[in-house]
Amino acid sequence: MELSDLRARLAAGRLFHAYIVTGGSSGAREAAGRFIARAAVCSAPSGAPCGACRDCVKAQRDVHPDIEFVDKTGREHSVDSMRGVRGRAAVMPNEAGHSVFVIREADAMNPQAQNAMLRILEDPPPHAVFILLADNPQRLLDTVRSRCETVNLAPERPGGPGGTETPAAAVLDAAAAGNNTALARALLPVEKLGREELPEFTAELRRLALARYAGGDLSADAVESVVELLDKCDKMSAVNVSAAHIAGLLLAGLCRK
Ligand SMILES: [Zn+2]
Repeated sequence: MELSDLRARLAAGRLFHAYIVTGGSSGAREAAGRFIARAAVCSAPSGAPCGACRDCVKAQRDVHPDIEFVDKTGREHSVDSMRGVRGRAAVMPNEAGHSVFVIREADAMNPQAQNAMLRILEDPPPHAVFILLADNPQRLLDTVRSRCETVNLAPERPGGPGGTETPAAAVLDAAAAGNNTALARALLPVEKLGREELPEFTAELRRLALARYAGGDLSADAVESVVELLDKCDKMSAVNVSAAHIAGLLLAGLCRK
């Protein structure tokens, strides 16, 4: 499943209890993991993660008590660490409807740790969600993989001077630099996009913004306002608002005031 499918499913309230996030950079995997975690704790009736409810805000600030990040201890995840997760996952969440465990570098679980994880996944507590970030999911047991939904991220494209920077990266770079002239220039090709191309462009921009947030290049507030703006663009595009108008909206929303 691709990130865009995942977004649609989560917004429709179709949350699964276990995910493997693979592909892309470690920053992009982290961003996608955080996105799922937010959707899992979001208390809005639909459109999770809404970005506005108390749970979303706490998750963005990294202070939600029902989202836990699990890092490896030393070179791998130990069986004791996974047993600890199992114990905590059995407890009811503090505030949200779900408790979320994001296992970073899940492919570094040793076989015993994977078996402990498998036991959790075979009989998951109804309120728990597990997100396994893995560069190399082939290192996970088939039995673990088969109990998770896999989210495949697209590889990061090279950007910057001399590279083949995508239009979305050019827009984000100009906005981040506060260069309104470069931003207007970067949005020129967007005016000519067809109806089917626009959602692809906004999806790419959203993905990049989330990856940069995970990499620490973009603040939570900045990424949230970009995502809100893109949601607005998607809605307008869906009702046939022209690409030129949407490019104008992006310019107004992203320019340095
Ligand atoms: Zn929310």
